[in-house]
Amino acid sequence: MSSITSKFTSENGVPVTEEAIRACWSEFNELFPKDKDCLEELYKRIDASGISKRPCCPNTNVQEQDGGRAIKCSSCGKKTWLTAGTFFHRIKRPKAWLGAIWFIEHGLILSSSRFHKLAGIAQSSALQVFKKITMVIQSHMDEEALSIDSSCFCPVFCKRSRETPAREHPCAEQEEIEKQCVGPNGKALGDQDGPRASADCRDLVVPEDSSRDKSMDSMSIAPDPKEELSGYELDVYEALSAEPTCVDVLHGRISMSIDQLLVALTMLELAGLAKRLPGNRYISWQLQCKAAPSLQSSTTATTTKIIANCVNFIRCNFHGISRKYLQSYLAAYWCWVDEVRWRCSSVIRACLEFGPVSNRDILQYVSPALVKAASCTVGP
Ligand SMILES: [Zn+2]
Repeated sequence: MSSITSKFTSENGVPVTEEAIRACWSEFNELFPKDKDCLEELYKRIDASGISKRPCCPNTNVQEQDGGRAIKCSSCGKKTWLTAGTFFHRIKRPKAWLGAIWFIEHGLILSSSRFHKLAGIAQSSALQVFKKITMVIQSHMDEEALSIDSSCFCPVFCKRSRETPAREHPCAEQEEIEKQCVGPNGKALGDQDGPRASADCRDLVVPEDSSRDKSMDSMSIAPDPKEELSGYELDVYEALSAEPTCVDVLHGRISMSIDQLLVALTMLELAGLAKRLPGNRYISWQLQCKAAPSLQSSTTATTTKIIANCVNFIRCNFHGISRKYLQSYLAAYWCWVDEVRWRCSSVIRACLEFGPVSNRDILQYVSPALVKAASCTVGP
């Protein structure tokens, strides 16, 4: 956020020391002792980011309400929350949110069980803060991240989620996601409608020999499944790019009904050609891979090292996680490992640019079969 020079880093993924956490937190507390101070900082940031509120009536006066969190128009009486429409809309404890961002921007990644005690919030709230912030971070992971089969991270899947099949180990979530690409009876999804992109889909997600050790070097990309696409699907595919595009924007670009568009997007997703992101946005998965051909051919050794580092980071800081939110923890790893990208105000800026993340977005989120991991590593 602002005016900080000290930096605390942990080495090799080991948990950061208590001293570093306390020093960072007391520095934050000096600058922002109360919720009120955090809100003021937030309003400053919102103003500076250009997300300005247009007044509802011309030449009107506004009165502050709810302790300065909202303004009321004296002409029409309309009440507007200052954080409305932003990432921070409806937050209850501004200090917890800014504090969490503060830690990340200082290279300290705290588990929810550690952070909730510091911030004086429930652990479930701390977890929600973590998931929402990392959702924003994830949206930036397309540029230079490696795509890795999520099965490589099975060693850290030891927490259940709503995706875990009943009475099964959390690892069963991984098998479920693999099944989603290869339908029942060993038939690939899409076979019902003809020979669409199915074999490619399997290549994309599940290694041919699905033993866990071999999956380490499975980073194969589908050859060219777009030859199998129907007319509508091809139109939609060509309208997609490596930049996340909102469904409404896509609809404006292509002449087809919204229903046809949504069906085509689903088929493209199944074929591994498109990927849905929070906020009803889509990116072209293939284009994204083509954009970084050098990364596809990066050596298995590098990939293996990155996986090992991520696993170590997750184990040390969070003990174990659910597969569902694997991508959130890989985003946190990126924040921790990248000494430059996510420091000084970058996280809060990204949050404001991103807009709201709803609880529903978080609940429905499932890490994809191919997850993104930062390609930078710690140490030599
Ligand atoms: Zn008004």
